[in-house]
Amino acid sequence: MDHLRRSQGNVTGESSTSAPAQDECNFIWKQMVLNKVKHFAWRAVKGILPTREGLARRKVVEDPLCPLCGQAEESIVHCLRDCPFAKRVWQVSGLDWQGSGSWLLDFRGWWNALHQHADKEVFAQMLMTLWAIWNGRNKWVFEGIREEPCVLAGKAGILWQDFMEAVAKQETPSRSGLLVRWRPSRAGVFKINVDRCIV
Ligand SMILES: [Zn+2]
Repeated sequence: MDHLRRSQGNVTGESSTSAPAQDECNFIWKQMVLNKVKHFAWRAVKGILPTREGLARRKVVEDPLCPLCGQAEESIVHCLRDCPFAKRVWQVSGLDWQGSGSWLLDFRGWWNALHQHADKEVFAQMLMTLWAIWNGRNKWVFEGIREEPCVLAGKAGILWQDFMEAVAKQETPSRSGLLVRWRPSRAGVFKINVDRCIV
């Protein structure tokens, strides 16, 4: 809880400039997600995702505004949570991304709150969703392809499902029958996932 309390000091929504605590990064490698998602999450927590705000700070680009909405500087928290595009993905995901008012915190405060309050499987689903948002953003910016939020949330769900099934096959054949089925909601439909397995 220590790093949660530390991070909750900043409720402005701006990115924190101090380095993340080592344990904020280390636990990423233990998450139930693909390695590419772990690497993405590590870069997000370290504050080194190449958003427009970060690139402008390093003089790589001039314009720090979000290329998707143009309403704010594209910080990491804007890109992955506060941008209207990201918000729509979270809304159709059915995940509790706003838990305990944590959506008012900066990225690391929000990240730590999600990690504290979600169980391991739900947090893995959140990591997949973050990854899907980042990839959707990149596809829009670099390829001009705009995928609908429900499509991106669906991709995150399928990615997580495939990963869990692969893990189950490696562990024991019987566990596959206990797998959780997480399918994001359709656009505009909200869902709360309660039971994740049959015992
Ligand atoms: Zn935006």
